[in-house]
Amino acid sequence: MAYSFKTESGFARSLDISDPLKKFRKKFVITNEDIIYLDGNSLGRLSFAVKKQLKKTIDIEWGENLIGSWNNSWYAKSMEIGNKIALITGASPGEIIVCDNTSANLYKLAYTALKYKAGRTEIVSDCFNFPTDLYILQGIISETGGRYQLKLAGSGNGITVKTAEIGSLIEKMTALVVLSHVAFKSSFKYDIQEITRLAHKKGVLVLWDLSHSVGVTEIQLNEWDVDLAVGCTYKYLNGGPGSPAFLYIRKDLQEKLSSPLQGWFGDRNPFLFNLDYRPAEGIRKFLSGTPPVLNLMAIEPALDIIQEAGIKNIVEKSKLQTEYLIFLFKKHLRNLGFKSGSPVKVEQRGSHVTIQHKEGYRICQAMINPKKPGFKIIPDFREPDNIRLGIAPLYTTFEEIYHSVIRLKEIAETGEYLSFSEKRGDVT
Ligand SMILES: *Cc1c(COP(=O)(O)O)cnc(C)c1O
Repeated sequence: MAYSFKTESGFARSLDISDPLKKFRKKFVITNEDIIYLDGNSLGRLSFAVKKQLKKTIDIEWGENLIGSWNNSWYAKSMEIGNKIALITGASPGEIIVCDNTSANLYKLAYTALKYKAGRTEIVSDCFNFPTDLYILQGIISETGGRYQLKLAGSGNGITVKTAEIGSLIEKMTALVVLSHVAFKSSFKYDIQEITRLAHKKGVLVLWDLSHSVGVTEIQLNEWDVDLAVGCTYKYLNGGPGSPAFLYIRKDLQEKLSSPLQGWFGDRNPFLFNLDYRPAEGIRKFLSGTPPVLNLMAIEPALDIIQEAGIKNIVEKSKLQTEYLIFLFKKHLRNLGFKSGSPVKVEQRGSHVTIQHKEGYRICQAMINPKKPGFKIIPDFREPDNIRLGIAPLYTTFEEIYHSVIRLKEIAETGEYLSFSEKRGDVT
């Protein structure tokens, strides 16, 4: 797919005017048009639909109906919302459930997958994986007496990992491959289907973390023969801070796997209060305990917006917008000490674009805290020099992308960042 872009600001406006998804921005709470939010890959924006649902959940479901709301609505939501996530990830009903956080879900699935492949002793991942994924694996390894060895694929260029590199690590002693679909720093995106095929040839299961790709890239869990997956709902799915995560288990694997966190919500009938655990049918046995209901209830209306916009359209717009951003980067920023930190090929990228600068931290500070009136731009910073620009096609406009690049150019040219401290905050 070849795009042809122009550098003028009028061109950005024309792209917004012809954008088939333009009406969706109005569904989000945007109180100040001078704030350009490029961090939807860390925390998606609040929508009016979610606000309305939360008000209803608090005022009516909790406030008036009290405990009756478990039966009327809350109890079934973990499955119902899972089935809605299935619609945008190419899974079947009953293959996804919403619960816990991504870390806990990864623990449950990795643990049971290793048990299922008993006798094999190696776990394969990569140096780009999100730290929590590696910490969870390291924890399982130490808690099971060091029986397993973790092998990490490296990257020659710091941006991509070669499929052959992963392939060469998958051997007859490999029990499990655990990878993030889109790398949180560089935005590198794996070919899930190809890696899964390579692993299956050696009888190995693959567990994918979809946190940085769900809701914004094409995912076909069934068509790609994916075994296991986890992901969070507060990034591109816009479910709100701390909204519970999801887990996916392919139908035919569900009977073979069991949860290492046998809580009462995963019992066949929690309200019989049996003294002995009997796993629920299907994926429900992977629930642990009571979900955070306010957060849980916020997810569904956010997903309905994605459903209405159409995941295909969102994916197309994401590709167009990241290509446009990279086009402007090449025109305006490349000679100012910035380097590209993301793959050049659109099919190898997720929906954020990372640019690198040795003063990246202070440049981010200058974007967030402008010295004079103008745009306040919110990217995020990832050590040591990565400025991440997250594109959320439901609400990010082409004009915002244009203004962000021009502002970065201004900050670099004037040295405005020099007046900021290099001291990092608690959350970057
Ligand atoms: C954001 C993210 C997580 C978050 O994990 P939580 O346990 O939900 O905090 C995990 N993995 C990846 C790849 C992520 O991008």
